Amino acid sequence: MNDPIWQPLHQELLRWERAGRVADFWLRDDDAIEPTAALDRLLDLTGEYAVPVTLAVVPAFTGEALAVRLSGVEHALVAVHGWAHENHAPEGEKKQELGPHRPRDIVLEDLARGFARMDDLHGERALPLLVPPWNRIDPGLVPELGRLGFQALSVFGPSKPASIRLINSNVDVMDWHGTRGCRDHALLVEEIVAQLGRAFGGGDAVGLLTHHLVHDEAVWSFVKRLFEMTSRHRVRWRSPREMLAEGALP
Ligand SMILES: [Zn+2]
Repeated sequence: MNDPIWQPLHQELLRWERAGRVADFWLRDDDAIEPTAALDRLLDLTGEYAVPVTLAVVPAFTGEALAVRLSGVEHALVAVHGWAHENHAPEGEKKQELGPHRPRDIVLEDLARGFARMDDLHGERALPLLVPPWNRIDPGLVPELGRLGFQALSVFGPSKPASIRLINSNVDVMDWHGTRGCRDHALLVEEIVAQLGRAFGGGDAVGLLTHHLVHDEAVWSFVKRLFEMTSRHRVRWRSPREMLAEGALP
């Protein structure tokens, strides 16, 4: 692992080690619905490195097949990815399923249904974690999430004070607006190092965001190299379940 692109991460992880600290990472992968070859690849890769993966599953379109595929896969958890991943924002606005565009009771009903469906299909594997499609939710809905059974919310970017626990992603491997493939590896390493810098001072863990259905080879190789490097350092890949248990109020 002498690739110069990865050196900054190696150096940063050495800094943590010298300080007697353990860096935390977690992995969220969005848009699963059913078993696919790409999902197999994700589960194999994460399994090989014992990395817990949280699949944000679209409740409206998923079913038994995914639950069957995941049964026995100890390192996979599922979260509620909205209801139908449907955009209700008008043309020209950023896409949102859980925005202010529909009556709030309707949106909350969708979320309650999504929660129940994931619970029915996945039981213990289902986390009380909401991952809003496109990482956006009307802030006015957040105080209602606890009532629906959710214990945490996961969007993208730095955590802000909220009425519910936030377990955010903050490093997105995909170049959505350009190539729609992997972002530049050196840039991703730089972002991970920057996030580790914030985490060192008490900020959020590194939350890697992937979308297995659209990965090109460059994404798969990036993720593999990251796992390789973290496996050689004192790093914890954590599951939101652990994080929630730790953050529980006495
Ligand atoms: Zn999504």
